[in-house]
Amino acid sequence: MTTASLAPAPIRPAKAPKVGIVSLGCPKALVDSERIVTRLRAEGYQIAPDYEGADLVLVNTCGFLDSARDESLGAIGEAIESNGKVIVTGCLGAEPDVIEKAHPKVLAITGPQQYEAVMDAVHTHLTPPHNPHMDLVPESGLRLTPRHYAYLKISEGCNNRCSFCIIPKLRGDLVSRPIHHVLTEGEQLVRAGVKELLVISQDTSAYGLDVRYKPEVWRGTEYQTRFLDLAKGLGSLGVWTRMHYVYPYPHVDNVIPLMAEGLITPYLDIPFQHASANVLKAMKRPAKQDKVLERILQWRRDVPDLAIRSTFIVGFPGETEGDFEILLDFIREAKIDRAGCFKYENVAHADSRSLPDHIPEEVKEERWHRFMEVQAKVSADRAAAQIGTVQDVIIDGPSDTPGEMIGRTKADAPEVDAVVYLDDASHLKPGDIVSASIEDADEYDLYGRPA
Ligand code: SF4
Repeated sequence: MTTASLAPAPIRPAKAPKVGIVSLGCPKALVDSERIVTRLRAEGYQIAPDYEGADLVLVNTCGFLDSARDESLGAIGEAIESNGKVIVTGCLGAEPDVIEKAHPKVLAITGPQQYEAVMDAVHTHLTPPHNPHMDLVPESGLRLTPRHYAYLKISEGCNNRCSFCIIPKLRGDLVSRPIHHVLTEGEQLVRAGVKELLVISQDTSAYGLDVRYKPEVWRGTEYQTRFLDLAKGLGSLGVWTRMHYVYPYPHVDNVIPLMAEGLITPYLDIPFQHASANVLKAMKRPAKQDKVLERILQWRRDVPDLAIRSTFIVGFPGETEGDFEILLDFIREAKIDRAGCFKYENVAHADSRSLPDHIPEEVKEERWHRFMEVQAKVSADRAAAQIGTVQDVIIDGPSDTPGEMIGRTKADAPEVDAVVYLDDASHLKPGDIVSASIEDADEYDLYGRPA
């Protein structure tokens, strides 16, 4: 008796096989998608712009919040309906039973960062071309972001165990990339025309902890695999370098002088999540927040144009009105320039589900509105203070108004922060960095023209 494979026979398209990609979730997931796209192109696959033109669709999912899981399951369903041949990867892939139950027709499921497993699944269901043209792939890899900025992922996973977060369960403990690899990738990106590097990870300030800050040599100089050396190395590349997901560990203070010198963009994305000691304890957040306010005020004295972005959760189990007031005072006093605010969600498998004193939805809603009001005022004050100044602006692209371009100052990361609308700017192109006179502002955005 012979055994037949249960998997459907691989498709053998006449031309280069085409794979469609749906990338959901955070910038870290986007970087995973870019790596997969790079591998696919290196092996001679083409990337299809839509479901219809694809021989197979890869869905890179997000499983962080319940709403993201629903979105991921919806995207898988849409891909199955429109195309039929679907491979699932990413964070939700760590829970194959959830996907199989909702969509039994998916061809294969792999978890986050399982690049080899994804490629194996693609090979199984879509035969790779015989002669891959390695030269189809630029040295800097293939990217899903516009040409002038790029995400640079420095590590995978996380050693912390914040009670509301399931990322360590999905992605495992911290694994840092060797610093010379990261710096070389940064250099290749810059050579390929990137003007702004966005450093991402789950916990950027913990970089290198898992490898005991192993020293490596890059361009003849020794760099330790740690946050400060990373900032120095990337700072030497001469482009805007933005640090995301930095926790306020004491050693972050050492990076501030690099900002003062202009080596690193004066921008810190620090996901504080809260300011009340009681709530932070229940959240099991890393890094002590004592004296955080004092340190921020000192950072601002050292680097007056420093912009701080953060995210916060309101309505965490046990959050009292007093805790919430502490949070609002913190936003006002620390002048958190850009803030995302989320109402606590009872994420499946998160430890915080079992905490006592869950907050009613209407209280979360009310606190969220109060938070946004305070934040809008802080943001509007910052925006108003920019009127009459001249700022460096990186151009992202045209707006809907003829002659007007949209760009960002150093205080704003792409996708998540504010923008600058520049009049009389049709001669500019994406990636140009120009001096602009700021003439007006609203709560978040700025308006001006090239100086
Ligand atoms: S630091 Fe906390 S919130 Fe961030 S990924 Fe790690 S466990 Fe999750």
